[in-house]
Amino acid sequence: MTRLQGQPASRGTVLGRARLRLPQVQETGEKRIAAGAVDQELQRLHRATDAARAEMRELRSRLQGALPAEVGEFLDLHAMLLDDPELLAALDELVRSKRYSASYALRVQRDRLAQVFQGMEDAYLKSRLDDLDHVIGRIQSFLHKRPNNVKGLSGEILVCENVAPSELAQLQSQGVVGIVSSSGNTLSHSAILARSLHMPLVVGASAVLNRINDGDVLIVDGGSGEIVIEPAAADLRQYRARQRELAREQRELGRLRGKPTRTVDGVEITLLANAESQDDVTQAHALGARGLGLYRTEFLFLQRNQLPNEEEQFRVYRDTVLGMSGLPVTIRTLDLGADKADRTGLVVGTEENPALGLRGVRLSLARPKVSDTQLRAILRSSGYGPVRILVPMISTREEIMAVRRRLSRLAALLRNEGHEVAENIPVGAMIEVPAAAIALECFIDQVDFLSIGTNDLVQYLLAADRNNEAVSELYSPLHPAVLRLVLQVIETAQRHGTPVAVCGEIAGDARMTPLLLALGLTEFSLHPGTLLEVRRAIRSMDLSALRAQAPQLLAARDRRGIERWVASVGND
Ligand code: PEP
Ligand code: MG
Repeated sequence: MTRLQGQPASRGTVLGRARLRLPQVQETGEKRIAAGAVDQELQRLHRATDAARAEMRELRSRLQGALPAEVGEFLDLHAMLLDDPELLAALDELVRSKRYSASYALRVQRDRLAQVFQGMEDAYLKSRLDDLDHVIGRIQSFLHKRPNNVKGLSGEILVCENVAPSELAQLQSQGVVGIVSSSGNTLSHSAILARSLHMPLVVGASAVLNRINDGDVLIVDGGSGEIVIEPAAADLRQYRARQRELAREQRELGRLRGKPTRTVDGVEITLLANAESQDDVTQAHALGARGLGLYRTEFLFLQRNQLPNEEEQFRVYRDTVLGMSGLPVTIRTLDLGADKADRTGLVVGTEENPALGLRGVRLSLARPKVSDTQLRAILRSSGYGPVRILVPMISTREEIMAVRRRLSRLAALLRNEGHEVAENIPVGAMIEVPAAAIALECFIDQVDFLSIGTNDLVQYLLAADRNNEAVSELYSPLHPAVLRLVLQVIETAQRHGTPVAVCGEIAGDARMTPLLLALGLTEFSLHPGTLLEVRRAIRSMDLSALRAQAPQLLAARDRRGIERWVASVGND
């Protein structure tokens, strides 16, 4: 039994077999084997090489005559590489004398050869590196091939380098019960979506690709980030106890369903829900959310090759509105880009710096047809219940005015066509670009409400990519600059009588509830899975006492100081 630690990204404890997915270019880390295991490791390597060779031969004969000449050449080249005595001898040598694992030997040899290829003058030969990677990749995949009795993905835990938001739903429908990734961040869109899908996820567990073998039995705790490989009897016992404890906690929290969200001193706090799917909508409604504060529409655009048309979008938005039966539904216009790149070709995949590129409202304004289709669908859904429109990535007054102009024109057109469109639909801005937060006074007269997107605000304010594990320590909402800016936005909004919520992940983290209340926040938009915990926290807090402690919070000079403040009020 071995334990590894990653960052907890989506709660839930699961027990299942590992399904290892190695990255395209083999990043197998250094792994050495015991002296007594050399012969066995060599046998594994030879079996995998033989299997790759047999596969190649099979493919060649199956496709005989049906191949364009150049494809045949590639196959021949691959076969040649697999037969190259120097390559094979070098691999054996690495296992025998250095005691490298077969996987690691393959990687070392691949890197050695890659250097030779890259040093070549001839562009054609240079480009053959891809062939080398393909061949090495085939051997790697045979090395990690699972025993024949394990089929499909059902009940399995995916162990991978990274998981894209676009593949999560599919993995779940294939039966994957949990995911562990060697990189990634707890506030990435993949993590947000995993929470929405109730898929336990641990990210940033750097050692997993080297330490976990395909088919290993794992216990993954998405709440603590712990991964147990080949659990012992005591671990299994503990796992069952944890399952029972979680069920108990859920039952206890369940008593708070539909209860008021009121502080000890009697102040009502509004809890809205973030939703990405119809399930989220159902859950939000059942738990007593006061509406949807953020309906992320981009998930409708992922995992498909064609853009959804007006009718399809309209049905989804209308059903969302109907699902909340009269409570306000805040539909956010498309926020594709950066880490939410789609397959429809809408997002420019070649941008050097996508987080600073054509995303959110910028993309909508650059692609008016796509945007109009979405706005028409949203406007039509307003005939079925209260709808608010939220615009992401606002950084200038012009952007919000441009969206407003489009909306007025489209609403008039739709009414002419005979559709019911509500009057005075509230239009709001996401405050997630620091410029918008700082210059809020310059455009607040153009918005009906605001929603602070701390996930992006933190990344842009601290210049720390929310998806880059290397800067995950820096990427934290607990920076004095973040607190000051959030406070400034809340105060400006309140001065103007403009409703303001926080819809970033911090809103759903019950540990952060006292901090947000101390900053004066009275509206939270959070994932329904966290709603009851935050309600429980709010019901245990005295708002006026917290507000009185805000100066100490704002006086903290670093993250530790802020954490100390949070811990001290948590213990009150
Ligand atoms: C945010 O940036 O905080 C936010 C809520 O939007 P998203 O996570 O979808 O970028
Ligand atoms: Mg955002």
